[in-house]
Amino acid sequence: MNIKFCIIFSLFLRNVIARGGDRINPLSSASDLGFPNHGYVVLARHLFEDNQARHPRTDITRGYMTNSELEKAVKEFGRRCSHISRVYSIGKSVQGFPLLVIEISDKPGKEEPEPAFKFVGNVHGDEPVGRELLILLANWICDNYMRDPLVNLIVDKVHLHILPSMNPDGFSLKRRGNANDIDLNRDFPDQFFPWNNDEDARQPETKAIMSWLREIHFTASASLHGGALVANYPWDGSLDKRYPVYGGMQDWNYIYGGCFELTLEITDNKWPNAMELPTIWEYNKMSMLNLIASLVKTGVHGRVFSSDRGRPLSGLITIKEINYTVLFSHKS
Ligand SMILES: [Zn+2]
Repeated sequence: MNIKFCIIFSLFLRNVIARGGDRINPLSSASDLGFPNHGYVVLARHLFEDNQARHPRTDITRGYMTNSELEKAVKEFGRRCSHISRVYSIGKSVQGFPLLVIEISDKPGKEEPEPAFKFVGNVHGDEPVGRELLILLANWICDNYMRDPLVNLIVDKVHLHILPSMNPDGFSLKRRGNANDIDLNRDFPDQFFPWNNDEDARQPETKAIMSWLREIHFTASASLHGGALVANYPWDGSLDKRYPVYGGMQDWNYIYGGCFELTLEITDNKWPNAMELPTIWEYNKMSMLNLIASLVKTGVHGRVFSSDRGRPLSGLITIKEINYTVLFSHKS
């Protein structure tokens, strides 16, 4: 018998979202956001800009993992780090590429009363930095377990699930949408408009994410994008259509999965020179680790039992002033 229950206040994430940049420009546009709403838009910094100007690239994919190299990297990770991880698939892309996930935990695959966090990369096919960073993140955690207290905290107290690429077909086609040219970040059911409500009509990549959330009760997550430097949090949409994203993954996670998701745009250039990747990883490493660890270090956590027999209970908790109800449940 097991019970999983976590309350996370949305406000805590404000402490860990991306910092950096010296000016905030409320009029900048971002690749996913026609207008910034609750997020921060930071003026872009250009890494190695001079170097790129001197050596223009003819092949933007040079130095990036291909889909088969990514699959190999995930499977090699699973072998090398099998003591604290497992590799599983949540489905296939339109063209049949497996959507592989790495779970990192001291008890991978086991239900525990611990928060689950997910990172999703490469939602848009032409935004490949996230998938590279997520492989680096997994390997860094593996290499530093039992050496670094923050890594120990993550492995011992969180179930971390990493989907490096949600859109491998879009990556191979070097475009935003999937193989059917559908923008996956507009393909989820929307809280205000019913156009996406038929789940059977969803793309296979979208359906895979939806069933994944039914399977695992995620507390929080982040999807990694490129083309701007932005940390955006729910809501994306509004009834009066003043904000631009409908059918997005972020709002759907929060409403239907109880999972507080951030949309992180981590590079001003969607497809930076691959030689910049180690620097981009260094810029983001501590933020990514602290974001995961914040599930344990902040918020309110608890397990709910009946007062008479100590049995785990299902139910609801309403938090005053933020108008949000947390569902909790147990599996017997
Ligand atoms: Zn994107």
